[in-house]
Amino acid sequence: MSRIEQPAAARFPEFFYRQTKSGRSLASILHCERIPLADLAERFGTPLYVYSASAIRDRVGAFELAFHAVPHTLCYSVKANSNLGILRLLARLNCGFDVVSGGELERVLQVSRAAARKTVFSGVGKSRPEMEAALAANILLFNVESESELSALAECAARLKKTARIALRVNPDVSAETHPYISTGLREHKFGVPISEAIRLYAQAARRSRLSIAGVSVHIGSQILDVKPFGQTMERVAELVRELRSNHAIKYVDAGGGLGIDYDDQTSDFAERLAAYAQALSAPLSGLDVHLLLEPGRSIVGPAGILLTRVLYKKTNRGKTFLIADAAMNDLLRPALYGAYHQIIPVEATAGNSRETVDVVGPVCETGDFLARDRELPTMQEGGLLAVLDAGAYGMSLASNYNTRPRPAEVLIDGRTAKLVRRRESIADLLRLERKTK
Ligand SMILES: *Cc1c(COP(=O)(O)O)cnc(C)c1O
Repeated sequence: MSRIEQPAAARFPEFFYRQTKSGRSLASILHCERIPLADLAERFGTPLYVYSASAIRDRVGAFELAFHAVPHTLCYSVKANSNLGILRLLARLNCGFDVVSGGELERVLQVSRAAARKTVFSGVGKSRPEMEAALAANILLFNVESESELSALAECAARLKKTARIALRVNPDVSAETHPYISTGLREHKFGVPISEAIRLYAQAARRSRLSIAGVSVHIGSQILDVKPFGQTMERVAELVRELRSNHAIKYVDAGGGLGIDYDDQTSDFAERLAAYAQALSAPLSGLDVHLLLEPGRSIVGPAGILLTRVLYKKTNRGKTFLIADAAMNDLLRPALYGAYHQIIPVEATAGNSRETVDVVGPVCETGDFLARDRELPTMQEGGLLAVLDAGAYGMSLASNYNTRPRPAEVLIDGRTAKLVRRRESIADLLRLERKTK
């Protein structure tokens, strides 16, 4: 008997088809590591986020390898996927973290108090309570984004009798080819301080006794596939570091995150891109003797997760076929928000090769509620299961309760074990915080 074991996509071998007993016959079923996704759907229900621990380990390992020649710390960007199970896995792999809120900081502290020492706090609108929590946790670095924030942080530090290590997040005015909503490094964007004003602001910060200047930080956007803008940015940053060094101790360069993944191209090689990225970042810094901080989010967890959904109904309106899935825009917002493309594949590979062009939509009452439009898929029946690939980043973390829909459960797979790392919300969970007035 021939064994069919074809990878779902070459770039993430943790999801692949394997011959499995289904009733009395054999079927080719999509697995996550050693577990058939059909079993997970039975056990945990759908829609369901499924993450592969080994995919995450591989990605962290790939980063470590690509940057082995430069002193660096990986500060995983919590907002990409903030599940505690994933954060704990990353903490155990010695990652630090990049947080953008007090809530994300609390998540990090819950998985590892020690990880706070490798945590950086980014964000354009940090509140005083958030800054104080971060000072109390003794985080590694505050990435400060304005003159007013410098003052607020200095006051908080004085009140707590602590010293805040700071970097200014500079806006390098570099254009990155990505979706306009996730590009952040142009002067018209709200992020950072203009690089031309940085020298003056660093001098101002140096006069504050509770602030300790420790670095320079940037982040030019997300889902950036071309490494050139990263290199251009680092050249500007390196120039700034050289100027600052005459007056300040600059130990850290925080290069931010933003390295993209291939949502549509199955053949590209991540290790190759990562090597080019490492080269783009580190070449301009050579000879500066800085410690590089990296804040990858998407590139670590994106390909490590899928959204598993069941087809509820199939219907045809004027010749257009819709698969109505039980996952919707509230579960995975990226297609509706950015027109993002996610590959979708059936959990059971069919023997025949009949295909049809469909829209995969959810039950939410919005025309923008789609997972895929005009997509050619193997012919699906009602009740069939689909896997939406590359959903590990900005999937669950962007999910909402729109239409009073409970958010999906999340499962972390490691070899043959499946751990429920977030149970499915109940409708009671959703209503708990509300009161009917008399
Ligand atoms: C969102 C964000 C990141 C992570 O971006 P990815 O594209 O997921 O790698 C890193 N740093 C900052 C400051 C961010 O806002």
